[in-house]
Amino acid sequence: MAKEKPKAYIHTLYEVDYNNKSVSLKNKKCPRCGNIMAHHLKPVERYQCGYCKYTEFVVKK
Ligand SMILES: [Zn+2]
Repeated sequence: MAKEKPKAYIHTLYEVDYNNKSVSLKNKKCPRCGNIMAHHLKPVERYQCGYCKYTEFVVKK
């Protein structure tokens, strides 16, 4: 039985602009440890670092 290939995780983190041939990070980087932060929408929109638990709340204007 063939196992399903795991999705390339890196593709979820980067946004590739083929017109400009540039790659940009979708998510923020943790200002404390430099790792990529996860984006959460619930219960409140925020970015959280999975490594050092640094959290940055998204303030809606
Ligand atoms: Zn961090």
